[in-house]
Amino acid sequence: MRDKCKVVVVGGGIVGCSVLYALAKLGWTETVLVEKLELTAGSTWHAAGNITHFGHYAEITRLYVDSLDIYLEAEAKSGQSVGFHSTGSLRLATSESEMAAYRKLEPLYKALGVPYAVVDAKEVARLNPLVNTDGVFGAAHTPQDGHVDASGATHALAQVARSLGAEIRRQCPAHRIEQLQGGGWEVETESGILHCEHLVLATSFWTRELALQLGLDLPLYALEHHELITDDIPELKALDYEVPTVRDPRAPSNVRQERHSLLCGVYEAHPKLWATDGIPPAFGQELLVPDVDRLEEHLLRVIERMPAFGEHGIKQVNNGPLCFPPDGCPMVGPVRTHPGLWLAAGFPVGIGTGGGSGKYLAEWMVEGRPPYELPIIDPARFSAPMPPEKCFDQIKETYAKGYIMPE
Ligand SMILES: Cc1cc2nc3c(=O)[nH]c(=O)nc-3n(C[C@H](O)[C@H](O)[C@H](O)COP(=O)(O)OP(=O)(O)OC[C@H]3O[C@@H](n4cnc5c(N)ncnc54)[C@H](O)[C@@H]3O)c2cc1C
Repeated sequence: MRDKCKVVVVGGGIVGCSVLYALAKLGWTETVLVEKLELTAGSTWHAAGNITHFGHYAEITRLYVDSLDIYLEAEAKSGQSVGFHSTGSLRLATSESEMAAYRKLEPLYKALGVPYAVVDAKEVARLNPLVNTDGVFGAAHTPQDGHVDASGATHALAQVARSLGAEIRRQCPAHRIEQLQGGGWEVETESGILHCEHLVLATSFWTRELALQLGLDLPLYALEHHELITDDIPELKALDYEVPTVRDPRAPSNVRQERHSLLCGVYEAHPKLWATDGIPPAFGQELLVPDVDRLEEHLLRVIERMPAFGEHGIKQVNNGPLCFPPDGCPMVGPVRTHPGLWLAAGFPVGIGTGGGSGKYLAEWMVEGRPPYELPIIDPARFSAPMPPEKCFDQIKETYAKGYIMPE
């Protein structure tokens, strides 16, 4: 077993595995990923797996585009299915200004080679007959969107990385991380001490505590995020295609088809932060206790938009911790004060952006400079410490805005 390597990646979710995969593809295979439980044990296993090409911020659209390409590439190389369902998505507009904002993005998608169209309300109804289009002006339609099996995608990435020479140690928590005097890093793990040149923290909301060991105060906290799955819906059973996912800025939510049911991820107006005093040491891969009463007002808006959602029972409610930085963007890049330390953490939509972010970080590590400038995800934007209360307020505010287009 290696005790020295070029890179140690801590965390075996979709993001850590994406970094390992991208490094291996670039020839950096002297790498070890350590995961405290099993791959996908954090937020990845219970994610709905939605992948859209229409992100919160246009600046990071390329990360979305690259992510899907990378998962499909890993599927082809490994033979492990990533379970991609190509359904397309509709991001609704309930005002002319939203329509104008969507139209402004047309050149961006054209440049990226991603199919994109701004469609009217009639077309919305044709594409997804479950949408009540009252008050809808139209939508941004991204026909290549869909959803993957997040666990399948993580395992496909891991398998390819392993086949290229990377090592993965499961049931292997990193207990202590330390910067060495002469350069490089020491990582004390369950299976012994590892020395490396580069250390990548891909540990979602656990990153805050690991980084505190180095005196770094990162604004990475988690909040509770609910998703609900309905009983079977006869209208869906009757269709011979899967309806596009609907994102509604007015009732911030994503609603997609899950077999013959609807699956709704809710961005509630008054979110609840979780474990702000520290992640409980015994917390593993469990879900949190659901609180559907809190969602009632929000769900009424979802039902108004998609009446079928309210006409059938709810068979499953998942409440999972979701890492959510104050501006809703991940932290991907180097920590300038600690040479050799890299972050790939704080992903609110880690399935949608994980693959592309792993590629972005790996290229930066190998080439010594970022493949392109993307200050919106650079950890340097949080170099000044943020008082916890301010941080909590910003997290809640950003989350509650859901799919409202940033100014
Ligand atoms: C209900 C719900 C639905 C979601 N749906 C979607 C969706 O449809 N689309 C989307 O893009 N995103 C979705 N997300 C968000 C998505 O799940 C996350 O963005 C993504 O899983 C983050 O991946 P990650 O690898 O950063 O973190 P994680 O998957 O949490 O992985 C971090 C890993 O680090 C490990 N770890 C922690 N500390 C240590 C240590 N000291 N040593 C070793 N290992 C350690 C953990 O065990 C864990 O496996 C959803 C989230 C929730 C809660």
